[in-house]
Amino acid sequence: MTAHETDKYVYDFAEGNKDLKDLLGGKGANLAEMTNLGLPVPPGFTITTGACQAYLATGREPDGLAGQIEAHLEALERAMGRRLGDPQDPLLVSVRSGARFSMPGMMETVLNVGLNDRSVVGLSDQAGQNDRFAWDSYRRLIQMFGKTVCEVPGEEFEHALDEAKRAKGTHDDLDLDADDLRGLVETYKKIFAKHTGREFPQEPREQLDLAIRAVFESWNAERAILYRRQERIPADLGTAVNVVAMVFGNLGPDSGTGVAFTRDPGSGAQGIYGDYLANAQGEDVVAGIRNTVPLQELERLDKTSYDQLLDIMARLEGHYQDLCDIEFTIERGKLWMLQTRVGKRTAAAAFVIAGQLVDEGLIDLDEALHRVNGAQLAQLMFPRFQLDHEFEAVAQGIGASPGAASGAVVFTSARAVELAAEGKSVILVRRETNPDDLNGMIAAQGILTARGGKTSHAAVVARGMGKTCVSGADGIEVNVPAKRFTVGGHTVSEGDVVSIDGTTGKVYLGEVPVTPSEVVQYFEGTLDPERTDDALVRAVHRIMTHADARRRLAVRTNADTGADAARARRFGAEGIGLCRTEHMFLGDRRELVERLILAATDAERTDALAALLPLQRQDFVEIFREMAGLPVTVRLIDPPLHEFLPPLEQLAVNVAVAQERGEDVAKEEALLAAVRRMHEENPMLGLRGVRLGLVIPGLFAMQVRAIAEAAVAVTRDGGTACPEIMVPLVGAVQELETVRAEAEKIIAEVVGDSGVEVLIGTMIEVPRAALTAGQIAEAAQFFSFGTNDLTQMGWGFSRDDVEGAFFWRYLELGIFGISPFESIDRDGVGRLIRIAAEEGRAARPGLKLGVCGEHGGDPDSVHFFHEVGLDYVSCSPFRVPVARLEAGRAAIETTGSDSR
Ligand code: ADP
Ligand code: MG
Ligand code: MG
Repeated sequence: MTAHETDKYVYDFAEGNKDLKDLLGGKGANLAEMTNLGLPVPPGFTITTGACQAYLATGREPDGLAGQIEAHLEALERAMGRRLGDPQDPLLVSVRSGARFSMPGMMETVLNVGLNDRSVVGLSDQAGQNDRFAWDSYRRLIQMFGKTVCEVPGEEFEHALDEAKRAKGTHDDLDLDADDLRGLVETYKKIFAKHTGREFPQEPREQLDLAIRAVFESWNAERAILYRRQERIPADLGTAVNVVAMVFGNLGPDSGTGVAFTRDPGSGAQGIYGDYLANAQGEDVVAGIRNTVPLQELERLDKTSYDQLLDIMARLEGHYQDLCDIEFTIERGKLWMLQTRVGKRTAAAAFVIAGQLVDEGLIDLDEALHRVNGAQLAQLMFPRFQLDHEFEAVAQGIGASPGAASGAVVFTSARAVELAAEGKSVILVRRETNPDDLNGMIAAQGILTARGGKTSHAAVVARGMGKTCVSGADGIEVNVPAKRFTVGGHTVSEGDVVSIDGTTGKVYLGEVPVTPSEVVQYFEGTLDPERTDDALVRAVHRIMTHADARRRLAVRTNADTGADAARARRFGAEGIGLCRTEHMFLGDRRELVERLILAATDAERTDALAALLPLQRQDFVEIFREMAGLPVTVRLIDPPLHEFLPPLEQLAVNVAVAQERGEDVAKEEALLAAVRRMHEENPMLGLRGVRLGLVIPGLFAMQVRAIAEAAVAVTRDGGTACPEIMVPLVGAVQELETVRAEAEKIIAEVVGDSGVEVLIGTMIEVPRAALTAGQIAEAAQFFSFGTNDLTQMGWGFSRDDVEGAFFWRYLELGIFGISPFESIDRDGVGRLIRIAAEEGRAARPGLKLGVCGEHGGDPDSVHFFHEVGLDYVSCSPFRVPVARLEAGRAAIETTGSDSR
């Protein structure tokens, strides 16, 4: 909504509700909701995000805003029977930011607005000559106002407070009496004047207006901007401002303030979780200035308020039908609710709570499915550190790429490569990584950096490689020349073992043992969900079962061997969407491939291929058996053949050494010549895929024959095989037609009357193929989108080159919010997919459509593939459960989801 569409900028709490988050921010909308539920919320009003947008656009408060604030303030004064800053009986307010999404980096809260040198006396009188309370409130105002509104360095106030405590010989702020606090106010005012060049404002309305303006402006604070970019929060939403009548938790021992969750946000277990601090205000609870007590203690301190609080929490859960977190204050035995929202939770708690809420009849299974996601499930599948008291984290960084890794510390890429070659697992520790570290990152088990966030080079590259990474671990001082780092009094030298947790961001000294997660044990079939009392496994089982019942997309796996296929089937794969045949040319078969490449005559080539045939056939037999009648898409050989030859330098050395020894170098020389001849500037775009099949006689024919013969063999043994032959890198229908004509002849000859049916289709991974899909569909029985190559060629990115070289910069600039190799680029690459799907199906109704790039296991991409109407996604075995879950979620979500 743009500013001029509305001229109503201020809403009383009674006018709002929880669905108005866009307008009132999360905090304001929920304060309104609680007010209308009849809960004890101090009265107040919310200035809309629209007012903030208008302010930010023009640099001044929009017309009408001042008057509306005035009117609402007057109403508030009437309701409270007090006037803002009245010297005798002052109304005080808090000014609180609150955007649509909660956002670190924005202005926090200013409490006690309306206090000045005169009203501080009135406040004391009203509280029954409670001078201590009044001066405590005043010093808090100057401190918070100074820090958040006027950018006075907060440490100066904290320092002065410490000084006052020291002078008194105490560590507890409660030991400071009224006189101490009056003195502190004087000191604070001097600090304020020194940094701002003016006296602390005494006019209450000026305090209020400055605070409101500071909240508006904090929307564009640097940290807030950065956070928005990372989280893909639109930059133009703006924040709302809440002005709330103050209630006081610092009025004495019968007052206090607290925070609570309606269930455990860590495990999801039912019960009351919270902290309470008597005689305190606002942030004291979380700031750790004094020791809080568990919320249960409140029952002893103030049974009436405690019972009322439990009652309210139960009501909120029932109302929001979800875990809520709340902030409250007790003023002289009277409970006040200051905030609630649907609470953040861990991945495990998300599943457990969703299951519980179904049991309690609060939500149905569709809603439970909606409330969890694939990223959470993936987190629950990573191996975990088995932590006990022996292991204490020595540093806390950002969980940049999940997983659990242990290894010997190294400080350079070269050393990482060396030690890894000796079979050691290593953790590469750097201040921050750069493209030169790439080899070390590949060699390492995990990466630990002292600097950088979720979009740093280390984080981006590690995620791309699926490698564990903790970035920005504060407190780690890396000294590369000395080959050591220090952290919190520990020194860790090269070779010492550390363990890093890429989910929690924690760093441990020594090797922490790793265990497979319960959720993986469940998927593997070693943990029976009906028998375990593990609440998480039961919840996962229940929700997965529902996802399977709901989803329209089938989920297949990418698997090249019988063993991979078997594991993927346990994880729920319903076929193989991509069986690569490259590995069938490796190992001891290399020699046959060399013969094939070097063949000088047709006869030599035919010989080499004939030798490869039975080996390939056997591979396929194993896979078809394992998949027992499920479809298996086999991709004909894709990489350029020179990838199967030794590197140039190595061959050159071999030749030289053999010559020296006077050995026969004919073969080495021939290989060397072949490597030189086959060298490509740009192998990704060179002689590969279908082009190989068209250039090297008999190559595809051999593979097609092996597939068909294997299928027939399995069928003769009483099994079923459903092969689908997939031709890679097709860009024109003529390519496919040529391959298909030859393949069909071979298939007809091999299959005979065995009843075996072999489909022939193509990958869609060259943009031209997507754009001519209508023609290609005439010759293809199925399409499988190869989204990795489609992304490479769609963007003109060579993945290996770009991810390390500049993706961090693109992410920083917001050119994309996530690497297009991680999550499908809907607008560009996605559009190619849409076109191909539509035109392909128009030409051949019922054309089978799938995807076999890594995107097939990415949650957001799965939703996209559901939307464009594909039949299946295919992903690595470990991602199969994630894809199943997300396919189920996609099916129940009619419109775009709001998962934040
Ligand atoms: P945040 O967004 O950081 O949680 P809040 O606006 O919720 O900031 O304010 C932080 C704390 O300040 C609240 O939890 C509450 O304890 C205290 N607070 C805010 N407004 C008031 C008020 N009107 N009366 C008493 N305490 C308040
Ligand atoms: Mg709060
Ligand atoms: Mg490809």
